Amino acid sequence: MEPRSVKSGPGRSRHDKPLVGTSACLLGEPVRYDGQAKRSVTVAEELSRHVALRRYCPEVGIGLPVPRPPIQLVRFADGVRVRGVEQPDEDYTAALTDHADSVTEPLCGFVLKARSPSCGLGTTPLFDRHDREIDTTSGAFAARIRERFPEMPLCDEEDLEDPDFLREFIRRVYLYRDAFGVLGRR
Ligand code: SF4
Repeated sequence: MEPRSVKSGPGRSRHDKPLVGTSACLLGEPVRYDGQAKRSVTVAEELSRHVALRRYCPEVGIGLPVPRPPIQLVRFADGVRVRGVEQPDEDYTAALTDHADSVTEPLCGFVLKARSPSCGLGTTPLFDRHDREIDTTSGAFAARIRERFPEMPLCDEEDLEDPDFLREFIRRVYLYRDAFGVLGRR
């Protein structure tokens, strides 16, 4: 299948833009654990010209406050858990996974915040039970989104800093929309 142009063409309106999920802090929402945002100019000003963005903050979505105590990924014998750094008995793994399962919008892509224990895509520090950093992996929300939508284009904001990657990501989002017949709506 030939990719369609990322620009609006004949018969297309701006409402035809595919819908792309985005970590809310990348759009300037001050929802991080420290009450700050991590606005990405590339996402908020470049990518947004080509696609419709739908913001998600999984940690706020599961009811955590802003600001909030930090969380981290910890490897156990039975898998990776999302736990409080200072309150290791607090376990958010199931809540974040369930939150990803509750995403019902017709998404054609997702831009996730690098290194977050919820949103990171293969870039998030992974600790052992003794608080030693042993690897990197994906955050609980991002991992479940990838599992649910294995064909959907996913990336983080750092990937998009490469202009070639940004162009290719947009192209893949439109291809996904066309291949799966997903119509993004504002
Ligand atoms: S959970 Fe995701 S969207 Fe929310 S502040 Fe953390 S990285 Fe940003």
